[in-house]
Amino acid sequence: MSMHSEEPKAARSGEVDYMTDSRPIAAGEAGPGCKKRDPIVVAENVTRSFGGINAVDVDYLEIPRHKITALIGPNGAGKTTLFNLLTGFDTPNTGKWQFEGKSLAGVSPYKVARMGMVRTFQLTKVMGKLTVMENMRLGASNQPGERLAKALFKGMWGGREKEITAQANILLEKFKLDAKKDDYAASLSGGQRKLLEMARSLMVQPKLVMLDEPMAGVNPALTQSLLDHIKNLKAEGMTVLFVEHDMHMVRHIADWVVVMAEGKVVAEGPPGEVMKNPAVIDAYLGAHHDVDLGDSEGLKELAAELEADEESIVGTENAGIISLDVVSHEAEEARQRADRLRSDEPQGRHGSTDTGSTGKDSQ
Ligand code: ATP
Repeated sequence: MSMHSEEPKAARSGEVDYMTDSRPIAAGEAGPGCKKRDPIVVAENVTRSFGGINAVDVDYLEIPRHKITALIGPNGAGKTTLFNLLTGFDTPNTGKWQFEGKSLAGVSPYKVARMGMVRTFQLTKVMGKLTVMENMRLGASNQPGERLAKALFKGMWGGREKEITAQANILLEKFKLDAKKDDYAASLSGGQRKLLEMARSLMVQPKLVMLDEPMAGVNPALTQSLLDHIKNLKAEGMTVLFVEHDMHMVRHIADWVVVMAEGKVVAEGPPGEVMKNPAVIDAYLGAHHDVDLGDSEGLKELAAELEADEESIVGTENAGIISLDVVSHEAEEARQRADRLRSDEPQGRHGSTDTGSTGKDSQ
């Protein structure tokens, strides 16, 4: 079983080394909805609305196989909802999507996981009142007790039971949780629970691992270990799709970045390129659209707001793409646009005789 061996599969077998494979990810030019050279997931016209809100409205999206893809976007962009839809935890209003060429419409989360597509949650779903080992065993597929007839005869399942325990032991050791295997999961730290959830998801030997905010709530001491585990998944031939607000992590480990805003995919590409994309900057600034960027006071207000926002990485050392410089630049451009508007539309809301109300506003 490749995932449990000491050495990554590619290094042993002489096949493609997934860590150094530099073939292009997109089949053509990178951009929203672009085709991939080797997609593992294909989603088409997937939509989900809640009341009047279009939480997800994805025309087309392919996730590249054997790569680490980051799904980013401001709060409420639809990232978690898309995860829920792809993995069967929620049902879309429209659309079709495939995993490894097989349609997943109407497939239950349990079966999706058995097919090799597993996920973790923003708030971990480990069972606090079960031990770490019991949690691991729950994650295994093809459990002996699943069929009553078999369950009655231990001879028929004793072997599988041992296999599951052995597999769990190897994973727990790898994730440095072996010393805790008899402890209740509730006694673990937030970071250790994330590791346990990830280890448990690997019990089904998945092909695609989807992680919803793996870094959230993780003690900095465990951050590096978590990053290494994610990179190891790729080294062993798995595909990773993760949602993350931590741009530091995105820059460090993602091969590909998909950006969502207001339910749509607004940009896609390699991290370095995507993070300079104006649509991405707009998407993040758009989350603070209540601030008037055309106003010099608005810039100060925006900077203060972003710095005070716990989720924002602007102005922090993790500010990968969206530094205050970018905000300033964007605000300056907005100010120039506003100036141009003023000269074009002297009666408009930006006019020097602005009364704060136009026909449009008052409608
Ligand atoms: P975050 O980064 O904050 O986790 P997100 O990008 O994951 O955000 P979602 O949680 O998918 O965004 O939410 C997308 C939109 O759908 C939001 O406007 C949210 O309020 C709404 N939404 C999500 N789930 C539900 C629900 N069960 N009922 C009603 N509205 C929902």
